[in-house]
Amino acid sequence: MKPLKELTRHNIWSLETYSSARNEYNGAKASIFLDANENPFNSPNNRYPDPLQKDVKNKISIIKGIDTKNIFLGNGSDEPIDLVYRAFCNPGKDNVVAVEPTYGMYQVCADINDVEYRKVLLDENFQFKASDLLNSTDNNTKLIFICSPNNPTGNCFHRKEIETILKKFQGIVILDEAYSDFSNHKSFLSELDTYPNLIILQTFSKAWGCAAIRLGMAFASTEIIEILNKIKYPYNINRLTQDEALKMLEKHYLVKEWVESLKNERERLLKELSVLKCCKHIYPTDANFFLTRVSDAKTIYNHLVEKGIIVRNRTNVILCNNCLRITVGTRPENDALLNALHEY
Ligand SMILES: *Cc1c(COP(=O)(O)O)cnc(C)c1O
Repeated sequence: MKPLKELTRHNIWSLETYSSARNEYNGAKASIFLDANENPFNSPNNRYPDPLQKDVKNKISIIKGIDTKNIFLGNGSDEPIDLVYRAFCNPGKDNVVAVEPTYGMYQVCADINDVEYRKVLLDENFQFKASDLLNSTDNNTKLIFICSPNNPTGNCFHRKEIETILKKFQGIVILDEAYSDFSNHKSFLSELDTYPNLIILQTFSKAWGCAAIRLGMAFASTEIIEILNKIKYPYNINRLTQDEALKMLEKHYLVKEWVESLKNERERLLKELSVLKCCKHIYPTDANFFLTRVSDAKTIYNHLVEKGIIVRNRTNVILCNNCLRITVGTRPENDALLNALHEY
């Protein structure tokens, strides 16, 4: 890895951390707050939230076994995805590399930030070779995005290929593990100390069942986390979200139960779908969704809509011709899907 200073945009590296009122107050015992021009009435919503979300991070730290200094919380994973562009990529000059097809937000943020987005096509098994990704990089490549399990294909990438990239790439690797709770493959969280150029993204939106509260997690070296903290909005995680997250973290045993149930439903769905004439192929999945190649994606999609069932038509995505992406639901929801497909 190049020195972090070299990878970071000059203006960001030399930025002083903005110090908000709640930053300067360091938690000493106090009961009268006249420092932030808040309204003293309408407690508790009158107060600005903790800008560094210490309570939430303490709980996440225990559950994940990661020091709080290595945790960044964002307004969904979308926020850290955008922040890594703003921290490391000079618009109009630097570039990033990602596999194709993958999660759409990486390119959306590249376009917004005027950063060249280089795509490397997956093979027919939706896998990549590390050398192909590395060959697409040059001296201005700051980031490589890898989403594993990948969206929309559902599969995990080979661990060895990811490791090769982490070892050989001189820039920063963003490994998006939004769906890793549903996978039997090991998360890279325990490898954080091994790879100083690794940023792992996880989220409350999927296994944690909290898409509405918008809470994403980034795990990385303290140096990288400090850079992200420097450029985020001071109060990026509102108090309602922090409170809801704390409640959820108390009930983390629920997540395990949900994941087990969804994995069982996933196996059942795959089995029952595989005998349907309209399902030509079901791709292996490590996520709470799967990709299936059907006889005619558009008409089947419309048929399902008529039955009040919405899936994602991915037929226009490269390598996904006539493919539907289907999220695993509750047992009755999945039954409704199966019935609707039987009737097609
Ligand atoms: C759903 C999803 C996320 C989660 O995004 P949030 O902004 O945290 O809701 C992240 N990455 C991928 C690949 C996803 O599919």
